[in-house]
Amino acid sequence: MKASWGFLALLAAGVMGLAPALGQTFVPANAGKPLATMVPPPAANARLAASEVAPAPAAPAMSAPPDAAPAAATASPQNLVAYSACNVDGKYIAITFDDGPNPETTPRLLKMMEQRGIKATFFVLGSRAVAEPGIIRQMQAQGHEVANHSWNHPQLPKIPLAAADKQIADTNATITQITGKAPTFVRPPYGAMTPALRAHLREKFGSTFIYWSVDPLDWKDRNPQLIHDRIVSNVHPGAIILVHDIHPTTVDAMPKTFDDLLAKGYKFVTVSELIAMNKSVPEPKVASLNPAPKKKPKPQGAAAAKPASTTASTTAAKPASATAKPAAAKPATTPRPPAGVGLY
Ligand SMILES: [Zn+2]
Repeated sequence: MKASWGFLALLAAGVMGLAPALGQTFVPANAGKPLATMVPPPAANARLAASEVAPAPAAPAMSAPPDAAPAAATASPQNLVAYSACNVDGKYIAITFDDGPNPETTPRLLKMMEQRGIKATFFVLGSRAVAEPGIIRQMQAQGHEVANHSWNHPQLPKIPLAAADKQIADTNATITQITGKAPTFVRPPYGAMTPALRAHLREKFGSTFIYWSVDPLDWKDRNPQLIHDRIVSNVHPGAIILVHDIHPTTVDAMPKTFDDLLAKGYKFVTVSELIAMNKSVPEPKVASLNPAPKKKPKPQGAAAAKPASTTASTTAAKPASATAKPAAAKPATTPRPPAGVGLY
């Protein structure tokens, strides 16, 4: 079973690596269950030191990013290596669109956002950006942020280091050439990353790694209503929302999603703007000074999920754990992909 999954994953990885070069429909029809093995499970995908990562999301994500962990109060909240959400005052959120630009769907999305004054961040593939510089320029002209999602969507830890460097370097160069502005943000395809590679890329390119806290699985469930509902029910202040502008169903979901989030008072900002607002997580209270009252203890998971009570407690509480466990237990029958799985 495991072997065949591994084989399918390899196959899928090969297909997806090629897809962008083959045409404009970079739609991984096979991005479903076989990909369960494409992303290292959270345990294998060792997390960052607590001081390197942005606060855990306030609300449980549909599928949490691989590196979600609370930040220590000592780290500068604007200079972390990776973020999956931010700790902000106010209902600010960053919606991020991956895998484009796509000439069929992205311009339609840009128009919707222009009409509403909404800013987003696009994690583009270099191979697609070079083919659609006009769309990239339009993104920039409308105030959106353009960032790096690799050249053609490989799992970066699974290719030679020099090839991984080239994926980042070429995409940075392409975006810089088109926009005149060098991107610093990287979203690794599939969220796949290792601490060593992250440290290397940080050192070499000064990259900051952006994951997510809200994931409606829009690559899997091509249903606008479902995509809308999952975003609206999981959104939280400081959220980084992950969606893909290459899917017509995702773009179809956006007008109502935008309008409902705006009606709830959410404000759309770019990832840079969100990070600029990121606050330190409060210091933990000294427990020994306050003998614990005879109160029912909070379940660990609940305490960990709240940024207000999230402390620099040593082992990062992972919002992913809830979804990651069943995934490891029964990969074949899990109705929803586990954390970190899918086309990201
Ligand atoms: Zn992607």
